[in-house]
Amino acid sequence: MFDLIIRNATIVDGSGSPAYSGNIAIQDGRISEIGDVDGRAHRSIDAGGKTVTPGFIDPHTHFDAQLLWDGQARPALAHGVTTIVPGNCSLSLAPLKAKHRMKLVGMFNQIEEMPHKAFAEGVEWNWESFEDYLTRISENLAVNVAPLVGHSLLRLWVMDDDSMQRTANDDEIAEMCSMLRQCLDAGAVGMSTSFVDMDETLQPVPSRYADNHELEALAAVLGEFGRMLQIVPEFYDGDLTIARVDQLAELSRKYDIPTTFSPLFVNRDNAAAVDRVMARVNEQFATGAKVWPQVQTRPIDISFSFAVPSLLFIRFPTWYRIMRFSSHDEIVAAFSDPDQREELIQEAARMAPLWPTLVLRQVASAGNQPLVGKTLAEIAEIRGTTPVDAMIDLSLEEDLDAHFLSANMGHNDDERVASLLNEPNVHIGASDGGAHILSFSTYGDTGYLFSRFVRECNAMSLETAVKKLTSETADIWGIPERGLLQPGYKADIAIFDKEQIDRGDEYYVQDVPGDGSRYVRDSIGVDTVIVAGEVAWSAVDGYTSSVRGEILPGATA
Ligand SMILES: [Zn+2]
Repeated sequence: MFDLIIRNATIVDGSGSPAYSGNIAIQDGRISEIGDVDGRAHRSIDAGGKTVTPGFIDPHTHFDAQLLWDGQARPALAHGVTTIVPGNCSLSLAPLKAKHRMKLVGMFNQIEEMPHKAFAEGVEWNWESFEDYLTRISENLAVNVAPLVGHSLLRLWVMDDDSMQRTANDDEIAEMCSMLRQCLDAGAVGMSTSFVDMDETLQPVPSRYADNHELEALAAVLGEFGRMLQIVPEFYDGDLTIARVDQLAELSRKYDIPTTFSPLFVNRDNAAAVDRVMARVNEQFATGAKVWPQVQTRPIDISFSFAVPSLLFIRFPTWYRIMRFSSHDEIVAAFSDPDQREELIQEAARMAPLWPTLVLRQVASAGNQPLVGKTLAEIAEIRGTTPVDAMIDLSLEEDLDAHFLSANMGHNDDERVASLLNEPNVHIGASDGGAHILSFSTYGDTGYLFSRFVRECNAMSLETAVKKLTSETADIWGIPERGLLQPGYKADIAIFDKEQIDRGDEYYVQDVPGDGSRYVRDSIGVDTVIVAGEVAWSAVDGYTSSVRGEILPGATA
């Protein structure tokens, strides 16, 4: 007797082979038979008319903190995501000495836009080692977690304040290598580093002070395990990105490790640069190097208010300084002072096309309610003012709690994005799930791949899209026993309607500890999500109490 049988399924098994009809029998968390299977089971699911695929793997998330209060990684799980990779971009939550906790919270706040209050009220800091952090999140895990260890954390542990001042000496490098080895032994899938990020004082993060000698030594340790190096390159510049591609390729060949960099966006103004980056990536793959660029499916949308700092303003030093370093009252005072206001407006003029397109998304006052949904150009016209003035005025009228949306800022030319997603050496990812919680909601990037690029644009087959989100990702990351529907593999499964699967509209919820808000999206067309043979979410019952998630690849001993 099987534990579970999924009957009448259209099976897309993750390998890229054509869909076929059959049943899937599951026993002890694994697929035991597939195809022409019969027999009895404790539970059966009728998947008639539905597509059954391996659970999706999201390779670029920042769920590190959320996993401490939400082992289901909501709402990613409801979109069919059964494995997530946290710890990207040089930041993880371990290994971390008690004295560095607030420093790390500051970096998460600045780089990943996670509120201080969520850490203060949602996190009980009772670990220091990577192993103990994994034990903590494992208590309540509904999804699988393939965790990266952040390079900035290794530096902070070994070098303290000096981690943000200088290169490391040989002893310090040796200690970082031994820390990394411990993390990999405990189950880390690799290490992440960043060449661009800044902390909450706008100083470079620790990983940016590493010299090549240090990075080589750490890559050599990754090579002992064959594990991943993830980096954030200077993604805004094609030539600098190409230099990083070459650097990663050299490390990949020398230490026989996979490497990946994110993000890579394509816009009208950088299409030629992206072509050059891809040409170099393909040349490097031809030499045997593995240098996977991560490309997201969705266009870039950014929401903001002046109540919290937004990375949208990072290229406007005066605006950003005020948002980052001023209190609520100081921001109101700056907006109200004619001289400061004039200075801000002058600086905003550098990006004149942006402001008129911003949409007023949300306000509290009844008086401004009729303006919600209008662009700043429309509001400026009604009020007889300029778009930037309208934005400042609305913010003052709403006591800074006016929310704006910059929609379709880039990565929105379907033809260009589709051709990039179809490149054999492009890795689909970069959702940033769990981060930037008031700026955008990336849940459903997977559904969007199907709705936009499989159905509407006809740019990719269903089988290829599934393969890219499942077995290809598992292969790239060395995630074992996941990504294919075949006997012996873990039964991580998504059941969905291929004509319906999509991401829902973005909306605002208050489910972050410390009365925090974030934007989320529901899934559309997803029917059932199974982790290790147990239903973890279904459209009918919602989230279940199943906690079968594992750490992947898991401890070595
Ligand atoms: Zn990231």
